[in-house]
Amino acid sequence: MSKFYPVAEPDIGEREEELLLDAFRSGWISSLGEYIDKFEDDFAKFCESPHGVAVSNGTVALHLTLKALNIGPGDEVILPSLTFVATAAAVKHAGAEPVFVDCEADIGIINPAAVAHAVTNKTKAIIAVHLYGHPADMDALRAISEKGKIYLIEDAAEAHGSTYKKKRVGCLGDAAIFSFYGNKVMTTGEGGMVVTKNEKLNERLRFLRDHAMDANRRYWHPEVGYNYRITNLQAAIGVAQIERYDELSKKRNNLLSMYKDTNIEKRCGLQLNPRKEWANTCVWMITAVFDSSNQVDINLLQDKLKSLGVDSRPYFIPNHLMPPYQACRTVNAEGGKQLTVTNELSAMGINLPSSTNLLKSDVQYITDCIENALS
Ligand SMILES: *Cc1c(COP(=O)(O)O)cnc(C)c1O
Repeated sequence: MSKFYPVAEPDIGEREEELLLDAFRSGWISSLGEYIDKFEDDFAKFCESPHGVAVSNGTVALHLTLKALNIGPGDEVILPSLTFVATAAAVKHAGAEPVFVDCEADIGIINPAAVAHAVTNKTKAIIAVHLYGHPADMDALRAISEKGKIYLIEDAAEAHGSTYKKKRVGCLGDAAIFSFYGNKVMTTGEGGMVVTKNEKLNERLRFLRDHAMDANRRYWHPEVGYNYRITNLQAAIGVAQIERYDELSKKRNNLLSMYKDTNIEKRCGLQLNPRKEWANTCVWMITAVFDSSNQVDINLLQDKLKSLGVDSRPYFIPNHLMPPYQACRTVNAEGGKQLTVTNELSAMGINLPSSTNLLKSDVQYITDCIENALS
């Protein structure tokens, strides 16, 4: 078997090429141009929200949002420990203190009971990560945020088009961020977006994104700003990806069905992309969570799969275990310090090849490899 199955591949084609070339030939290759406006408008509409502010990537989208909300030194931001490290890094970049909370069993989304225990009078924001495309429990989180006058920010980097109780993510808090990195549901190569309903926040995000230049006086900068702009070339690719979203999400859901049809869940004692009844998730990655009774050594499994040409990814390592974050406060659903659910889920989860161009025969091969590797 000489074929190699990567965990993710971008799904880009003729339409992306057409719009990218159009942007290129227009000469507007930098951070001004019609495609940027269109990308922002189209994506905001896609999220059922009025404003979209495109930026260079998802990490700076988070940082910019925290800065625009005046979150900084002395403030605490509550976030799940089970997330990509960018969520925590952005809080540190803003100068605020991350407070890591435990997740819900199986699905891994932020646990609202733990959030309620974690709130102090220093808490300024909650970052609800829609992990592996599955929306966080936004009603429960909004109740906490409203009660404490705390901002609620969605990290929807992995969840383009997912819905919570039939509403698209991106319009469920004060602001939401998205990533358009190469392995995400929609990509622009590198890229990000902040989506918000708040007009004032929209203006402040635009101001800080572009060196904090005074709108009425060119080259006058009343604050320290950033260069977090995206290019017209990237935006052109993004416009095509939004156009193709229905096709992309259909392919992704179909891929999950193909995996399920192999009966791998029963064959190997695992759950594929578990979800709550109120969630409709756009499949980002195929996630497999092994039953806790099933003492699978994920590292060993990955090595065996790799030797058979099947790439995989371990679940995120809990952020509170990594050096820059070890001193941060941690809170579980009972108010204690041990993030047991997070630690256990992180050790039992794996992402499998999730490319939209996989065929039924490829998926059969991949799942056969998993069964063989476990036996
Ligand atoms: C990918 C990702 C980010 C960061 O996005 P980049 O565009 O890679 O900077 C942030 N949060 C989560 C949960 C992500 O998966």
